[in-house]
Amino acid sequence: MFDITEEFAKQLDAQDPLKGYKDEFYIKANQIYMDGNSLGLMSKRAEQSVLNVMNAWKKYGIDGWTQGDYPWFYLSENLGEKAAPLVGAKPEEVVVTGSTTTNLHQLVATFYQPKGKRTKILADELNFPSDIYALKSQIKLHGLDPDEHLIRVKSRDGRSLDEEDIIAAMGDDIALVVLPTVLYRSGQLLDIERLTKAAHERDILIGWDGCHSVGAIPHQFHEVGADFAFWCHYKYVNNGPGGVAGLFVHERHFDTEPKLAGWFGSDKQKQFDMEHDFTPAESAGAFQIGTPHVLSVAPLIGSLELFNEVGIEAIRQKSLNATSYLMYLVDELLSEYGFTIGNPRDDEHRGGHVCLEHKEAASICKALKDHHIIPDFRAPNVIRLAPVAFYVSYHDVYQTVMTIKDIMENQTYKQYKNERDIIA
Ligand SMILES: *Cc1c(COP(=O)(O)O)cnc(C)c1O
Repeated sequence: MFDITEEFAKQLDAQDPLKGYKDEFYIKANQIYMDGNSLGLMSKRAEQSVLNVMNAWKKYGIDGWTQGDYPWFYLSENLGEKAAPLVGAKPEEVVVTGSTTTNLHQLVATFYQPKGKRTKILADELNFPSDIYALKSQIKLHGLDPDEHLIRVKSRDGRSLDEEDIIAAMGDDIALVVLPTVLYRSGQLLDIERLTKAAHERDILIGWDGCHSVGAIPHQFHEVGADFAFWCHYKYVNNGPGGVAGLFVHERHFDTEPKLAGWFGSDKQKQFDMEHDFTPAESAGAFQIGTPHVLSVAPLIGSLELFNEVGIEAIRQKSLNATSYLMYLVDELLSEYGFTIGNPRDDEHRGGHVCLEHKEAASICKALKDHHIIPDFRAPNVIRLAPVAFYVSYHDVYQTVMTIKDIMENQTYKQYKNERDIIA
């Protein structure tokens, strides 16, 4: 289906329905950006929407809350509606708020209610540290010992999780399951539908961390019946460093009062009554806490416009093609240098990045950067390469693999220390 010629890469680009979108983004001349799984690039529309919001502040002052193109009072809910198609939710089930970790805290504070025998949270040993820190601290808030009440499913191979092992751990001592949709290091995509169903059959609530999938992979959180989900927007959704995150709460929980209450979770009609009794909104909006970080929400206005123009299905299609092509080139051109592919290969179990493993991964990443190719390194031996659908061409993928081949052939990676920088 693929071949290794440069001509072939150019043919793939010529046939790419998303090829026009690269010009929507700021990419340095000669640079290939393969790190959109860590921090997405700035689009011109995101930049413009920040300027628009700044301008509304300049022009309206306090009245910007209700006037201008994007009245700030309703912005988190409006953008929640626009983000809902990315995660397969009803418009009122999503709100743009907080950060991944603060949203996790809010949702676990609300939905983790240890009772009787069911006192434990089930997670996994490969999850991102912040999630684990948050889960442990939530357990401690209940006066319980995280060593006993946080169960982490073990990985058999150090890279991936076996769904059978996860299901087997869903015992009658588990109150809540929290799992990543896509594992941040290996890029494994879990079967969200199957695991959600398995949890519910056992009367366990389940929440999903979508940081590594939202904006790259379509979800159906409503239909599969997930209890809640949370994710950042600064990775695949390109809303900039520290950009405001998102959360989903299934509508069947709209009558559950948020355990971390704040006035921006109020029913909008009542918020300015300034009463001391909280009337939560009947939507995911109830889970907001304080005043929205409007300037850090702003890029999302432009960014989501791009997603809704193209549709998440088309993005996933291109991403699957590009990661397939990348794996093909790695197999053909790099296996002789000791590289292995650490992500699952089939479409149903693969996220938006390729997990390329090599014992010299850190120094290879530094050499790549000096060749204007931006990868990302995860200790001890992983090079993550994300051919993001909007702004990485097939020729960029080709160029990346050819450059790695060159670095290995000429052993130029040996000029760099094989250790991580402060941010890796
Ligand atoms: C990126 C990421 C985070 C980051 O959390 P923040 O609160 O946005 O800093 C958390 N969890 C996972 C799985 C991630 O990939």
